[in-house]
Amino acid sequence: MSAVLSVTGLDAGYGTIPVLHDVSLEARQGEITAIVGANGAGKSTLLLTLAGHIAPTRGSIRYEGREIAGNPAHRAAGLGIAMVPEGGRLFPFMTVQENLELGAWHAGARKHMRESLEEMGELFPVLRSRRSQLAGSLSGGERTMVAVARAMMSRPRLLLLDEPSLGLAPVIVERVIELIQRVAKQKQLTVVLVEQKVAEALEICQQAYVIEHGHIVKSGTGAALSHDPDIQRAYLGL
Ligand code: ATP
Repeated sequence: MSAVLSVTGLDAGYGTIPVLHDVSLEARQGEITAIVGANGAGKSTLLLTLAGHIAPTRGSIRYEGREIAGNPAHRAAGLGIAMVPEGGRLFPFMTVQENLELGAWHAGARKHMRESLEEMGELFPVLRSRRSQLAGSLSGGERTMVAVARAMMSRPRLLLLDEPSLGLAPVIVERVIELIQRVAKQKQLTVVLVEQKVAEALEICQQAYVIEHGHIVKSGTGAALSHDPDIQRAYLGL
């Protein structure tokens, strides 16, 4: 499969504070690529940079063959890149339906609004019965589903997911992970998944990168990394 996203020698941070150092990675068409690492390793910073919220200080981000490093977030969105931020960031005083509609703000997505709402109802049946419910009154798992569905409303080709398992009970994490896998497969989506739940992420991804202190220290298939003794010791508690 060809690489939809190729990142090379990326440095980024906040003002004068450097966080990412010489990060290189690839995400291939229709695959789940996981970025795993501990608290504060730079995972969210990496996704924010890919989505255009942070301008890199060095390096290249090639997406579908074009250079997008330094492009603002609205342009990345227009090119088919959607991000689910950590915690989902729904609008709690708006209904599920209103939150979903906001995901289709972009002109290219707005004209498919009805069709997209139908599709989201099929992918996430639980949301159908909750259309008029305020997002703030949903359970953690339901909120995560709405956040993923809202991003899908923009009809993305590249989906960036920042720790969708955060704060969820283990049984719900399983359901959310299964859902991500299903959505990626059905839609032939390219997914970059950031996770602290390393075992779960390695299980569903095709390719994974381990990030420590802003450096990519290892990469490989999910299966290979889950059998790597260093990874087992550091992240899998084995
Ligand atoms: P977590 O899983 O805890 O979210 P992470 O791997 O996503 O961790 P980041 O949130 O990317 O890590 O943080 C990487 C580093 O950047 C940390 O040292 C953090 O303190 C710092 N950082 C994050 N946001 C900012 C900010 N707005 N200004 C300055 N430094 C920041």
